[in-house]
Amino acid sequence: MRGIVHDAPNINGFANVQLAAGLARALGIDAVFVDRDTVMAAIGEGVAGAAKGVRDYVYVTISTGIGGGLVIGGRLLRGVTNIAGEIGHLPVALEGPRCGCGSYGCVESLAAGRFLAEAYGVDDAARVFAAAAAGEPKAVAIIARAEAALGNLAIILVNGLNPSLIVIGGSVAEHEPAHTIEPMRRAIATRAFRVAADAVRLVPPGLGRDVGMLGAVISVRERLAGRAEWFL
Ligand SMILES: [Zn+2]
Repeated sequence: MRGIVHDAPNINGFANVQLAAGLARALGIDAVFVDRDTVMAAIGEGVAGAAKGVRDYVYVTISTGIGGGLVIGGRLLRGVTNIAGEIGHLPVALEGPRCGCGSYGCVESLAAGRFLAEAYGVDDAARVFAAAAAGEPKAVAIIARAEAALGNLAIILVNGLNPSLIVIGGSVAEHEPAHTIEPMRRAIATRAFRVAADAVRLVPPGLGRDVGMLGAVISVRERLAGRAEWFL
């Protein structure tokens, strides 16, 4: 259903919330659009960011959680219930920690900031990266596992979708590119299909760290102008 948040794995109890109707009432306005932040980011990058002019690209966020948006042949791929692009919940391990979505072995449960902090018993993923940089063995192992999970995700995206661009945003990717974007590049270079690997670039968002917010503004502007989700 439109305007309803059915599930938000990283916000306890935030399920089946009629967000659009509630916001419209509270703000006294008619039109409220509710969408996923990663979809907004993908649209923003396609209209005015690093993916401008690109027909086949993936937006990935590596932050508290992991998610994404897919643009195939110049069109945003939503699927039938707007779940397409929930790439953080692709399972990349045969056995792995329980994920907030109810599954296990999801890339999010192995590499997202929230889960890195939980695995190390701290409240901030930055402390895990700092401990790993200092050589603390448990932190080193957690980060190595996260890098492996992100590498597998990268190969799934490249072999499964054959994009020419992967835009990687989110606070963990922004602060720790050597432990996120670089291992994804290495995995693609060594394990993905050769012609697909040679055709893809991995870059940070052209719209910067506010890509989700800017994407939301751009998305609403595009909708109100009557333009569909075709970028080319
Ligand atoms: Zn999951």
